[in-house]
Amino acid sequence: MKNEVKNEEVKNETGRAEKLNKKETGEKSKKLPFEVDRRSVYKCVQCGTCRSVCPVFDVVGWESANTRGRMLIIKSLIEGRPPSEDVLSSLASCTTCGICAAKCPAGANPPEVVEAARAQLVKCGVTTDAQEKLRSAVATSGNSFGETRSRLHWLSDSERSTLPEKSDYVYFVGCFDSYRYPEFAKKTFEVLQHFGVTLLPDEQCCSSPLLRTGFREDAEKIMEHNLEQIRNVGAHTLITGCAGCYTTLKNNYPEELRVISLPEFLAEHLEELNLKRLDLSVTYHDPCHLGRHNKVYDAPRKVIQAICNLKEMKNIKENSRCCGGGGGVRIGYPDISLELARNRLDDVPEGVDYIVTSCPLCVRNLRDAGGNIEIIDIIELVAMAMQ
Ligand code: SF4
Ligand code: SF4
Repeated sequence: MKNEVKNEEVKNETGRAEKLNKKETGEKSKKLPFEVDRRSVYKCVQCGTCRSVCPVFDVVGWESANTRGRMLIIKSLIEGRPPSEDVLSSLASCTTCGICAAKCPAGANPPEVVEAARAQLVKCGVTTDAQEKLRSAVATSGNSFGETRSRLHWLSDSERSTLPEKSDYVYFVGCFDSYRYPEFAKKTFEVLQHFGVTLLPDEQCCSSPLLRTGFREDAEKIMEHNLEQIRNVGAHTLITGCAGCYTTLKNNYPEELRVISLPEFLAEHLEELNLKRLDLSVTYHDPCHLGRHNKVYDAPRKVIQAICNLKEMKNIKENSRCCGGGGGVRIGYPDISLELARNRLDDVPEGVDYIVTSCPLCVRNLRDAGGNIEIIDIIELVAMAMQ
């Protein structure tokens, strides 16, 4: 019997209607082969320490939207209970910010477990509409927005035709800077070009949104496409200004590739950049996937301090609060995502001219949350200091 996708309209505990897609196999009430690594799930001893830090729980208030609740739900799935719409919304509403892992006294890594569980649900044919839309956008267009324009539309024809075909260094632009913030891409490339960096002729999504939402097989295909491009260029080092691309390229692509975040590259080359001091006071928001997940804390601060005064936010580095944009939450649960961003803006100190960050998704989510202080990417601050 042919598999069919059945849509059920449901309301999750946040009151938001969503579709639960189930692939019908024709086999009645078959138990799901839920294969998440049990050792990592049973590391959670249900102590509840994470209740005080999970930003989604802070907004939603239900135990199922808390780390501990998610771990309990995953245990139930392993024990053979079928997934329901509440299970799906519990697992899909984690931003994978990682603060629970940083604080967990038992050494559990909940975001890793949540991602593995999402991948299992996808394998079992259980997804939300938002996940399906994302998957289809990346599969049909090679980017997470479903854009049909060239990814290099921000370059002039002559710039495109003179791009070096071979280089040791590639600037991996990412979907966000390619299509939503081409001005960041342009400024970044203007700086990196002086160091002999080139671009991939046909870069596609790094696969972060697919990996974070459980579409591992789809992700592998697109990662292979990017790897072939990287091999053709002959590059051994990738530089990226997006925290999502950074963690994916660094942790999900082959280990022999060297991956550097833009703030790290800028910090390493401060002297050559010849930046002037600006009479500004700024604060810095640590993107979760650059900071907590990869411990890139000092490089952006070094760059900012070379240019102007840095006034820290209330929660920084390992304790930084999530902007709410990651893990597919911005797409699947926009209200929760914006609430997290608003909470993060509460951490901004008085008397700063800008909020600086180093991830376009954080820029977008924090900008959408409003507030009266402009949010800029670190490359914009650097560009101001180069003029
Ligand atoms: S994830 Fe860690 S902090 Fe949270 S309940 Fe489990 S053991 Fe406690
Ligand atoms: S990764 Fe962040 S959002 Fe997800 S359960 Fe942990 S603290 Fe909550």
